[in-house]
Amino acid sequence: MAKSKKQPWRLQELSLKDVRDTEFEAAILPFGATEPHNLHLPYGTDTYEIVSICDRACAWAWKKGARVALLPQIPFGANQNTLGFPMTINLDQAVLDEIVAATCESLERHDVFKLVVANGHGGNQFQPGIRSLHGRSPVFVCLVNFYQMMADVGAKLFSESGDHADEMETSLMLALEPELVELKAADDGAVYPSRFEAVRRKWAWHPRQWDLATKNSGVGDPRKATAEKGAKYLKTSEERFGSFLVELAESELDADFPFDRRKAAPPGGEAGGGHA
Ligand SMILES: [Zn+2]
Repeated sequence: MAKSKKQPWRLQELSLKDVRDTEFEAAILPFGATEPHNLHLPYGTDTYEIVSICDRACAWAWKKGARVALLPQIPFGANQNTLGFPMTINLDQAVLDEIVAATCESLERHDVFKLVVANGHGGNQFQPGIRSLHGRSPVFVCLVNFYQMMADVGAKLFSESGDHADEMETSLMLALEPELVELKAADDGAVYPSRFEAVRRKWAWHPRQWDLATKNSGVGDPRKATAEKGAKYLKTSEERFGSFLVELAESELDADFPFDRRKAAPPGGEAGGGHA
C-alpha cells in the first residue's frame, strides 16, 4: 500500500472520531498469502497485490461518494500444498472461513451489511464457506478473486501463461514494489506435468504438491514482465473494482437484493449463469 497520508477508507489508519464521522456502507477484507514466488518475488507478493488493488479501488469509489471501508489484510492463506518450501505459512481454509464469519458478526453489530472478500491467493477457496453463511448472517458477502476479475485484461497484456510468480504477478510487483523484485534471479517457470492424462486434460484433479510440480515454486515464465504492463493492469482493475464498489454501496438492501427483478432475461451471460 502506498505510504501516503491517512486515507478515509483505510480502517487501520483511522481514529474513533474518524469512524464515528463516517457512515460506512460496505467493507472489504483482503486475503493474501505467505509463500515463495519463484526466486525473484517476495513471500508477501499476493498480499502486496491484493491490498494495492483494494486500496486503489476504494480511492476510486470514495471519489464517487461511496463510503467503503478497507479492513486490514489477512496475510496468510491456504498453503497446505506449498509447505515443502521453507517458511511457507499455512492457514487451513476452515480458519479463513471462520475469519470471514467472525468479520460478518462484527460488521452486523456495526450496521454494515455488505462485505467483499477480496482474494489474492489462488489456493484460497472461499465459495463454499460464503455459501454456507448465506441465510445465517444478515451480512451480504460476495467474493472477488482479482485474477478472475482481470482475466480478459491479463490475456491481452501478457504473452506468457502461468498462475504463480508469472509475467502478470511480476509485472504487478514491478509496478508496486520494484525494489523487492530481482528479475535476474528468476527461473523460466516451467512445470512438471501430472503423470495422468485425465489431470492434464483437467477433468480429473488432485492438489498440486508445489515442490514436486515446479522448479522453484514459479508457474509461468516471468521474464517478459515490465512495470508498464503492471501499471496498465492496475489502472483497469481500479476502475473495474471501484465501479463495482460504488454500485454495491449504492444498492438498496430491499427484499429483492441483490437481484434485478424488473425484467427477466435468458440465463447465462449478463444475467449470470452457473449453479453456484
Ligand atoms: Zn501469487
